[in-house]
Amino acid sequence: MAMSAPDSVASSPSNLLGLDAAALQAFVARLGGKPFRARQLMRWVHQRHEASFDAMTDLARDFRAQLAGQCCVQVPAVSAGQVSSDGTRKWLFDVGGGNAVETVFIPEDERGTLCISSQAGCAVACAFCATGYQGFNRNLTTAEIIAQLWYAGRTLAQAPAQARSGRALQDGERSISNVVMMGMGEPLLNYDQVLAALRIMLDDNAYGLSRRRVTVSTSGVVPMMDRLREDCPVALAVSLHAPDDALRDRLVPLNRKYPLAELLAACNRYLERAPRDFITFEYVMLDGINDGDAQARQLIQVARQVRCKLNLIPFNPFPESGLRCSPASRIRLFARRLMDAGIVTTVRKTRGDDIAAACGQLAGEIKDRTRVAQRQPQRAVISPLAEVRS
Ligand code: SAH
Ligand code: SF4
Repeated sequence: MAMSAPDSVASSPSNLLGLDAAALQAFVARLGGKPFRARQLMRWVHQRHEASFDAMTDLARDFRAQLAGQCCVQVPAVSAGQVSSDGTRKWLFDVGGGNAVETVFIPEDERGTLCISSQAGCAVACAFCATGYQGFNRNLTTAEIIAQLWYAGRTLAQAPAQARSGRALQDGERSISNVVMMGMGEPLLNYDQVLAALRIMLDDNAYGLSRRRVTVSTSGVVPMMDRLREDCPVALAVSLHAPDDALRDRLVPLNRKYPLAELLAACNRYLERAPRDFITFEYVMLDGINDGDAQARQLIQVARQVRCKLNLIPFNPFPESGLRCSPASRIRLFARRLMDAGIVTTVRKTRGDDIAAACGQLAGEIKDRTRVAQRQPQRAVISPLAEVRS
């Protein structure tokens, strides 16, 4: 595998990891190759995790030589890989310029889920999210997004079977059965690069995942939800976190731009083309902030406006947030109130917290501390936690 300077992974136009079927076909055509060559190449790269053109033995020798001169398969340098006591794995990709992004693999009995990042940092600056506290550094390229899937798939294919899944995998069965864009960043604020990445995930010659098994999670970028519905309607999770505008404005500052009524209308438009007949609402449980009985009642009213399932996420604390997770008994009661009202509700199991791989703990590594320091005063305005708590 070519492991070169991380910056060139982002900028290389000929990194095959960043090309969807149409782009790869155009690239191969420029080299004088037929469309079926592009499909063969796609299978070598994404299904067999091959980075060396020499090894692609059913391609003509001349064509392989041309490829070697014109393109590459490049993954950002992996600066750390960790395995949790519960089998969760985390990798840290160095994407250059002092930025690192994280990818998490969660093996379960029935599936293996890869949680991938779409941006280095995030501009939405939610009050409870470690990524938001970093500020926004930059969008990932399609190659950098797919590199996470490629690298994890390759590493897991080489790992012993029990490390890849909670159960025995059948011959040829892949460890990664589901992808969720719930890592670092707001995927719908990096739309074009994410769209090309989704197309590669769904392509039968690449990862061949069904639209139901790929989930985009968004804090509610309404116009881009509409575009995704037209371009590539995969499963959708919406980070709700509050049942009214006043609280959501503070927890998820993007709500000031796209308030709840607009967000719920966009959810209903999305459902017309969604691969599942529901949207998952994510709701992080914050002690004394959004977990009261009054909020449960309001949330029931919100949930009744959209075909949805509610996923309650125990808050994973990090020092700067000044927030606490709701006690387990409160989460159970909150869930019970929703279920009694007929809302399908699950409580997310925390995985990988011993290696800081749990939701919202993904902070990558920031070497450029000045950037963070510069953002702090701005955060105080966007997300006044003192007000949230009062
Ligand atoms: N930006 C997108 C996707 C990445 S965040 C979004 O916000 O949906 C993925 C999920 O992790 C979101 O539901 C987010 O609210 C949740 N999350 C963020 N910080 C968290 C924390 N500290 N504890 C628990 N969940 C958190
Ligand atoms: Fe960004 Fe999502 Fe974190 Fe909010 S929760 S800051 S949108 S990554």
